[in-house]
Amino acid sequence: MFSNKVVLITGASSGIGADTAEEFAKHEAKLVLTGRNEENLLKVAERCTEVSPKSLRPLCIIADMNKETDIENIIKKTIDHYKKLDILINNAGIFESGSIENTSLAQYDKIMNTNVRGLYYLTMLAVPFLLETKGNIVNLSSIAGLRSFPNILAYCISKASLDQFTRCVALELAPKGVRVNAVNPGLIKTNIHFRSGMNEQEYEVFVEKAKQVHPIGRVGEAREVTSAIIFLASDGASNITGATLPVDGGRHAS
Ligand code: NAD
Repeated sequence: MFSNKVVLITGASSGIGADTAEEFAKHEAKLVLTGRNEENLLKVAERCTEVSPKSLRPLCIIADMNKETDIENIIKKTIDHYKKLDILINNAGIFESGSIENTSLAQYDKIMNTNVRGLYYLTMLAVPFLLETKGNIVNLSSIAGLRSFPNILAYCISKASLDQFTRCVALELAPKGVRVNAVNPGLIKTNIHFRSGMNEQEYEVFVEKAKQVHPIGRVGEAREVTSAIIFLASDGASNITGATLPVDGGRHAS
């Protein structure tokens, strides 16, 4: 389905990004994987090569989405290597809790810079190449962009911004043949919450509470987000742009 398509995935060294990389590899995509952890990124790349029908080896780029020069380097190396870009999966992101009473400006900046500013800059640099291929973009938003939650204030703001970014850029680029969509996962089993400092016990409580409020009665798996990303990036979604697709067991409707 993605044979000869150049697919760039940020934050590909773990979780949804790693799973998505593997799925695109199965569809013969030419991959660019970016992340901060070289060891993990190379492991994901190895797995992608194993499952790729043509044993295609991804291009791996170590990059921090908070560093402008790293972001510039992602686009430069992608174009130097493959000469084009077809699909951009803006996946890298962080989750941190905090309310209006205890989210410092520094924490706010960290979340917004990673989840919105870095993604904005990468997209801006990618657009000229996506216009050439009439490609598309899929942004990793969250149910936290679609509805409000207490105690994850900056994260909610970042994902709501990302949803609006998705709609606005979709509107601008639709007449030029480039589609832009987002997926909005509910709680998905990855390490993102541990990275935010949550311990095992707190995570168990978090998951139990989530199960009760997700109408489907369970939390999601990374592969369930991946399948939505693959669909939106495919020609099967050729009439879909500016969409924010919940992958949340019905949580957005509750
Ligand atoms: P994850 O922590 O495994 O993946 C996030 C990736 O982004 C990691 O590889 C991390 O290293 C990378 N990253 C973070 N900051 C970065 C930076 N400054 N520069 C470069 N890379 C950076 O978690 P995940 O659940 O796979 O998250 C993927 C995306 O899905 C995120 O955008 C997240 O907000 C979104 N999401 C996750 C859930 C969930 O419950 N897991 C729910 C809704 C949305």
